[in-house]
Formats: sequence, structure tokens, C-alpha cells
Amino acid sequence: MEFRDLKRQYQTIKTEIDKGIMEVVSSSHFISGMQVKELENKLAAYVGVNHCISCGNGTDAISIALMAHGIGEAGGGNKCDAVFVPDFTFFSSGECPATVGATPIFVDVRQDTYNIDAVSLEHVIKRVLLTGKLRPRAVIAVDLFGLPADYGALRRVCEKYELLLLEDGAQGFGGMFEGKRACSFGDVATTSFFPAKPLGCYGDGGAIFTDDDEIASLCRSIAVHGKDMGQPDNPDSKYNNVRLGMNSRLDTLQAAILLPKFKAFMNYELIAINRVASIYNSQLRDITGLVLPAIADGFYSSWAQYTVQLPEGAERIVVQAKMREAGIPTMIYYVKPMHMQEAFAGTESALADCPVTEKLCKSVLCLPIHPYLTESEVDFICKTFKNILHQI
Ligand SMILES: *Cc1c(COP(=O)(O)O)cnc(C)c1O
Repeated sequence: MEFRDLKRQYQTIKTEIDKGIMEVVSSSHFISGMQVKELENKLAAYVGVNHCISCGNGTDAISIALMAHGIGEAGGGNKCDAVFVPDFTFFSSGECPATVGATPIFVDVRQDTYNIDAVSLEHVIKRVLLTGKLRPRAVIAVDLFGLPADYGALRRVCEKYELLLLEDGAQGFGGMFEGKRACSFGDVATTSFFPAKPLGCYGDGGAIFTDDDEIASLCRSIAVHGKDMGQPDNPDSKYNNVRLGMNSRLDTLQAAILLPKFKAFMNYELIAINRVASIYNSQLRDITGLVLPAIADGFYSSWAQYTVQLPEGAERIVVQAKMREAGIPTMIYYVKPMHMQEAFAGTESALADCPVTEKLCKSVLCLPIHPYLTESEVDFICKTFKNILHQI
């Protein structure tokens, strides 16, 4: 059994994917081919925003979005910019603000949703303002494991303190809240097409979403060496560089692969993965001490992961070993709080008070989940998991 079975997905849509790949190869438009624009238009329409700017990966997407908003450039009295980031997330969410020159300040998450806690966020913002060393600029809210963060509460805090709200939707694509799609909640949003994400390609890829025309144009410029966007139809404008940027584009091949994958994602994968999650929820419901992922009213998850919290006393290494013996792979996202990552040692970012994250890092376990898991496979996983938890 695979943790996320990309081979089964390929077998299902092989004809279309192969055709898409061959079209790119025979056209030789490997960079900025028409498939890239077509994909961007379709993604923007699906998410419900005006602009989608594709790029090289989800990490670049965050950096480009921050750069387009001038975050990290140290303005106001030479104070460094503070960017608030959940302590429980993938490294990129905190790495990007640091690489653009800002200081990530880590905030605790909620134990029930795994997402940034708006109450803790406000406490931490107040602490930073009181200390006076940094200038609060932005919040990076992560849609962890496929579930949109609590944007109602986060929006109120961001408005109160005049902060940019950046949605890191690398794991959230396809999720919803009250009929609105993930990647439409932030002032700007980003996603990743890394193969194992809800919508993945066959390598690295990413995208930025925004309603703001000017920010969209800046993102496009930054993604291609700060090219002049003044004359977008002039082929020479690429060699007129008006700002510092990077080289971060989505390959035409990846766009051609994403087009049929996106169709499958919309037509049945998202529904299928939610069916798998609901079987897990009902079969694992009455295990004492086991905490299942909570999806509040109005929320819809795209299930990048199905993450449970093990009962106290259940040795995670033992559970994983026994699951592996039965042929079931499990993963741990995440083992270490962001503020404890060695990369931040000795910096302001290492000073965080995040007891929930510390507890989660010790107790979470991710079970296999993908749209192509059969009902009998999910049954088998649940039975095996239950037996193991009873034994120990
Ligand atoms: C995967 C991921 C990223 C980075 O995406 P890449 O495409 O791998 O660069 C950023 N944030 C979160 C929350 C992620 O899970």
C-alpha cells in the first residue's frame, strides 16, 4: 500500500496526460507555452480570484508574494519586519519571510484544527508591539492538511493591526469555507503543485492568487528576473530589468500535466478523498483518547493529510512499526515546532511560546489518504489501527 498512490492516479488518466506531454515535446514550447496561460485562467476561475500567476514551486510563490508587497525591505525607522507564522507547519512558511529579510514570529495553533490560533496571534502581535524591536507587517495563515484556517477571525485581527494576510494554501487547494474556495481568503494566496499536494504535478510547481492588478503584475515581474511589465507584448522587455527578482516559472510540461489532473481533481478526486475521510471518521470515532481531525460547520477540507492525535501513553514509534508490519505506511507531520528548527537558533524567531504545537509534534500521526484508496483498504487500515491501539 502507498501513502499517497500517484501511480493509480496516472493509470486512470494516462491517455490524457501522455497526450499532453507529447504535445509539449513536439511543439518545443517548453517555457511559457500556451498550456501555462490556459491553466492559470482555469485555476483563477475555479478559486474565484482575478489573477493566477504560476511559478516554480510553492516556496517561491510565498517569497514572490512577500516581495511584491515590499515585506522584508526594512522601512519604518529601520526596524525589521515581523511576519506572524504558525509554529506547526512545513518549513517554507517560516523560511520565506526570513529569506526575504523579515523576521518570522511563530504563533501557536489550535489543537482541534491544527491551524493558527487567532487569539494567540493577537497576544503575540501585542507582545511584538510592546517590545518595539520589530514592525508587524503580515500574517501567513496556513491551510494545514487541507483545511482552510479561520479567516473570519484572522481577517479581524489583520484589519485591527493593519497587517497583510497571506494565505499559504500549499496544502489547502480545493478546500472551502462557506462556499468560497481556498486561495481566495488572503489578500494574496499561494499554493504548491508538489506531487503529493492535493493538486500535484510531476515535479515542482506553484502559483500565486490575487485580485489586485498591480500586485499581480509585480509578481509576474519578480518571477522573471524583475522584467519590465510596462510593455508586456514587447519581447525585449524581458531584457529590461527594473527590479531584482528570481527565475521561477512553471514549465509548460507541468502545466500540460496539470490540465487533465485538475479536471480529475474537480470532477471526482475531491469527492473521493472526502469519502475516504468520512469512512475514517466513522470507523475511528470511538477509540478512547484518539483525537480525530475536526472540520467545523461551513468548512470543507481537501485532505492533504488525515492526521490524528494518538491517545496518551500510545508509543508512536511502536504504533508506526506495527502498522508497517501490516503493510500500512504512516507519516509524522510535523516532528518539530518551527521555533525549534536549528535554522532559527539564536534569533528572535526561536523565542516562542507554543505549548499546543509542542504537544502535537509528539502525538500526531498521519494515515494514508488519497482519492484512489478503496473502501476495503480503508476498512483494513482502520481495523489494523484499532487492534494495534488496543494491544498497547
Ligand atoms: C509544501 C508546502 C510548501 C512549499 O511548497 P513547495 O512546492 O514544496 O516549495 C509551503 N507551505 C506548506 C504549508 C507546504 O505544505
